[in-house]
Amino acid sequence: MADRKNRNGEFWELALERAHLGVWDWDLASGDCFYSAMWLQMLGYGEGELVETSDLWLQLTHPDDRERAVASGERHIAGQTDSIETELRLKHKSGHWVWVLDRGGVVERDAGGRPVRLMGVQTDITKQKQAEHELEQVNVRFRLALAASGTGIWHHDLAARKSYWDERTREIFGLVADTDEVSSDLWHSYLHPDDRDYAERAHKVPLQTQKVVAVQYRIIKRDGEVRHIESLIRFIADAQSSGQILGTVRDITEAKQREQELAHAADHDALTGLLNRAAFDRLLAQHIATARPLAVFYVDLDYFKALNDFAGHAAGDLALKSVAEGILGCLPPSVHAARLGGDEFALLVPDCDAAQAERIAGAVLAAIRDADLGSTATSRKLAASIGIAFIADANTAVADALACADDACYAAKAAGRNRFAVFSPETTSGSGGLNAARLAADTVDAMEDGRLKLFGQEIHQLGKPWDENRHVEVLARLVGRNGRLIPPDEFIPAAERFGIASRLDRWIIRTALSLHGPALKSGALTLGFNLSAQTLSDPQLWDFVDAVIDETGAPHSGIGFEITETAAVTNFTAAEQFVRKARERRCRVSLDDFGAGMSSFEYLRRFPVDAIKIDGSFIEHIAESRFDREIVSAISGIAKSLGCSVVAEKIEEQDALDILRDMGVAFGQGFLLHRPEPLQAIVARASAQAALPVGRQA
Ligand code: C2E
Ligand code: CA
Ligand code: CA
Repeated sequence: MADRKNRNGEFWELALERAHLGVWDWDLASGDCFYSAMWLQMLGYGEGELVETSDLWLQLTHPDDRERAVASGERHIAGQTDSIETELRLKHKSGHWVWVLDRGGVVERDAGGRPVRLMGVQTDITKQKQAEHELEQVNVRFRLALAASGTGIWHHDLAARKSYWDERTREIFGLVADTDEVSSDLWHSYLHPDDRDYAERAHKVPLQTQKVVAVQYRIIKRDGEVRHIESLIRFIADAQSSGQILGTVRDITEAKQREQELAHAADHDALTGLLNRAAFDRLLAQHIATARPLAVFYVDLDYFKALNDFAGHAAGDLALKSVAEGILGCLPPSVHAARLGGDEFALLVPDCDAAQAERIAGAVLAAIRDADLGSTATSRKLAASIGIAFIADANTAVADALACADDACYAAKAAGRNRFAVFSPETTSGSGGLNAARLAADTVDAMEDGRLKLFGQEIHQLGKPWDENRHVEVLARLVGRNGRLIPPDEFIPAAERFGIASRLDRWIIRTALSLHGPALKSGALTLGFNLSAQTLSDPQLWDFVDAVIDETGAPHSGIGFEITETAAVTNFTAAEQFVRKARERRCRVSLDDFGAGMSSFEYLRRFPVDAIKIDGSFIEHIAESRFDREIVSAISGIAKSLGCSVVAEKIEEQDALDILRDMGVAFGQGFLLHRPEPLQAIVARASAQAALPVGRQA
């Protein structure tokens, strides 16, 4: 083992140099100060480059550090401290600052114990200082970020069972306290009872893992205010203790409210606050799936479009709001109401039977009648048509459930509005199904908006020009909303099924007579009107016809009516009366579609009609079918024996025309003779011909 005493100056120099330690040696008595080569080198100087005075270091010290550095030395010299230990910045030769840690102390004293020599070592700690500075910057930024996000920090020391809340955390909980330490059960006392279990469970984070748990819960502040909190929690291991739980808290009440508002907006109609279509569909799907009987109501406002046009959108909006309020106000709490769009509403009535549905429908109709339309539209009242569908099958599709209710709603509209109708599969299957009700409703609208048109087809005396008697059958045409011409075979059965056929016939009669009364009066032509079975049994029909004739000046003798064989048979008494009244007025009556019903010829004797029209189905193949020829021949024979004329329908071929003429059928109608065209054009032609001198008529 080497002797300590043998270590010479060279040894120490080497050691200091390797350790990068600079040495200074200060003789207090002489004031001389020695700075080692390493000391100088730390600052970029070579030996002899600086004048080594005792205050050389002080001259090189950063002005901000001087006072502190000097004080540290003085305290030590005065015997107040065991050593000098100070951090300071010294100026490097190239101008920048070098951080050093200076440690030293008295190494020699005089006989009186006064210090005469001081020595110290100096280490370059620039790198360490830089790291500290960077860490500090990170810390500052972190704190700023926390402050900006309004995040509070708390921790719970597991071993000490103590909790610490920072100022922000205390602020969030509304806790007035000056210190961080809080009792460990304080947090629990804030929890909303509904969220307590969940929040407490979430806070038992798995120990010894890095996992971060996120949890949202509500607290009740001491003043009773409920706030939503979000916490991130994790376990922090600690070598000295059993570790701690570290967490953040953030008040997310506003965000939650916005979230709830958005959710509400996504599900509700902005104008009325009722559920919107998407939400209603979802709700309906859920209810249907439970397989409990429910009713779907489809509510369509009547006259709303007119109100909107007449009184403006503001009035329309007001009316919709008022309707929504009225509907909500009259419903039991279990019923869900939605606005499907425009002026259409829907209700979902859980566990609904027929009696309850009827009560609710009545209440809704009343509420809509009472809706506030504002000052601009005082005289008019709103009404609604309601369709109700009962659903009990869990497999029903939402769209089908609504379509059924919608369909029933059309039926209610067709039946005259301001009423409700219940969907039943029987009334909507058969002719046209779902579309029939729609079509009937559309026909009603068409009468108002000019989409119902009058056409006509000439009836010819066979072998003679039309000009000699100028009789025309009036035919109705419906222009669909898409512009397509809908044939009467489609919309008339629908109109009959939904009880508007009578209205339709009256509309045709009134319109034709109003437009062409003068032509009829002048004898330019005669018109034949088709009547449905409903019209036939309408006791007020003749009052109506008489009134229209009075108004328009058209003579009774200028008009005739076509009643179908089937209608006549099924409404026998009504038909008899009708025919009697017609004869009193000298109106012509024809029995239409004769043969199609194949009823007994006996009926013919009971109806003293002017003409029978042989159904087109016997005429169209008459050239090829002997059977048809025999039937037509028989019918025409009986008709003649009864003194009524015979009209053959649907004459399309010259062959058929020739055969009919040979059989002695006097009148005919068909595409060969004339294709239906707008009545207006026919009347114009007839009027022009009637005006010509008799000899010039073509
Ligand atoms: P309908 O009374 O038998 O009228 C004759 C129908 O035969 C008309 O059909 C006419 O266009 C069509 N037709 C005439 N000649 C020919 C032909 O040569 N070939 C073919 N294939 N068809 C021909 P439209 O106009 O479609 O009327 C169908 C039915 O609708 C009418 O049968 C009538 O029952 C009913 N209808 C028409 N207008 C009215 C109305 O205003 N009120 C009522 N209640 N029913 C009407
Ligand atoms: Ca007819
Ligand atoms: Ca016919």
